Amino acid sequence: MQTIERDLVIIGGGPAGLAAAVSARKNGLDDILLIERDRILGGILNQCIHDGFGLHTFKQALTGPEYAQRFIDEFNRLGIDALLDTIVLSLDSNRTLTVSSKKGFIRIMARAVILAMGCRERTAGAISLPGTRPSGVYTAGAAQNFVNLQNIMIGKHVVILGSGDIGLIMARRMTLEGVKVEAVFELLPTPSGLARNVRQCLDDYGIPLFLSTSVFELHGKDRLTGVTVARVDDRFQMIPETRRLVPCDTLLLSVGLIPENELSLSAGVRLEPATSGASVDDRFMTNVPGVFSCGNVLHVHDLVDHVSEEAGLVGRCAVRYLKGEPAPEEAFIPVVPKADIRYVLPQTISGKEDVTISLRVTRPMRNAAVLVTDRDRKVARKKLVRLHPAEMIRIKVKAKDIETAEKLEVSVQC
Ligand SMILES: Cc1cc2nc3c(=O)[nH]c(=O)nc-3n(C[C@H](O)[C@H](O)[C@H](O)COP(=O)(O)OP(=O)(O)OC[C@H]3O[C@@H](n4cnc5c(N)ncnc54)[C@H](O)[C@@H]3O)c2cc1C
Repeated sequence: MQTIERDLVIIGGGPAGLAAAVSARKNGLDDILLIERDRILGGILNQCIHDGFGLHTFKQALTGPEYAQRFIDEFNRLGIDALLDTIVLSLDSNRTLTVSSKKGFIRIMARAVILAMGCRERTAGAISLPGTRPSGVYTAGAAQNFVNLQNIMIGKHVVILGSGDIGLIMARRMTLEGVKVEAVFELLPTPSGLARNVRQCLDDYGIPLFLSTSVFELHGKDRLTGVTVARVDDRFQMIPETRRLVPCDTLLLSVGLIPENELSLSAGVRLEPATSGASVDDRFMTNVPGVFSCGNVLHVHDLVDHVSEEAGLVGRCAVRYLKGEPAPEEAFIPVVPKADIRYVLPQTISGKEDVTISLRVTRPMRNAAVLVTDRDRKVARKKLVRLHPAEMIRIKVKAKDIETAEKLEVSVQC
């Protein structure tokens, strides 16, 4: 097997990998290799043909491919190396990768690695959907790929389970393609997707959303003929008397994303249960020296603009690591989520640099503030009109306020 050495290898050519590569080059690194298993760069954005991307970064509502193309153009202009149609099969703790490409297997020894593999969708098996296993059951992202990229229509009467953003976007897409979308059913008492998507994708098209309701049985032998739905109580148990049959030939699942961390695990990267992504410090380095993580493989983002910004920072941090610039001392101050906070990221910080803490809340709240404290001393506070589990919140903390911090606690003040 051919063996090569590279300074920085980036796994994944989606918005995270692209922004990390562009940033690493702009910060003075020559030897960068990006590896992407698809035939084209852009990641999942290639199939997101609706607009709404780039509102923060470019102050424009771009489509997914338009947004990705801006970074691809920059990537190409900077002459960064990419291996397309090439999959990374393994990564070990010494940053040695085995890849399978058209040229055969290659072993790559990297001085630093950025993990940017994105995430995959939960399937019917993953949520143990009861009933038969007919055709016509798709994840919303797979349906998006068929309809938007391959021009294949997947059904005529659609039910959507889960109100995640991809499901909401697909409810609108299917309607625009002439398909009848019967309803969206959501197990939780609140929608999982962004409020703007509920408005623009369901309300504007008269598609009903049933909260605290789930699918309890699939029907059909060869093809799906319907689903049994029912309301659930506050312990998510079915309320039997509310069972009803909804005829349909297609069920789309929008029931969550799982970061693609198989390679991370094989390298010995420690994962956080709350995010299913790596545990990182404020340089976005994992517990494996020289291995960084960003984008959806680190934590699921709702806005791609935040993915690009985060990955740009990670590219810079990887270059600093490679240049041997002393790390701002071992990251040692833990950042801990308190009541009403599902997770915080990064999980440890050095206290020597400004840092942006990303977090999600556990339940919808109004007119509350996110508070960062160190031993009861206020370090940062951000007031928000609306806090929702679907929307990632970011709060900036200044280095001068955390130099002597021992532990940062993040909480919600109502
Ligand atoms: C189906 C879907 C629809 C979405 N729709 C929207 C939307 O409408 N609006 C919005 O703002 N956000 C949307 N998002 C979220 C947004 O697209 C993501 O936040 C963003 O794409 C994440 O970027 P990423 O680079 O981390 O991951 P991705 O875009 O998923 O890119 C990861 C890349 O890594 C590659 N890869 C993975 N493993 C390997 C390997 N072993 N070897 C080589 N390459 C590998 C993949 O092929 C992929 O190209 C959507 C996400 C999904 C999954």
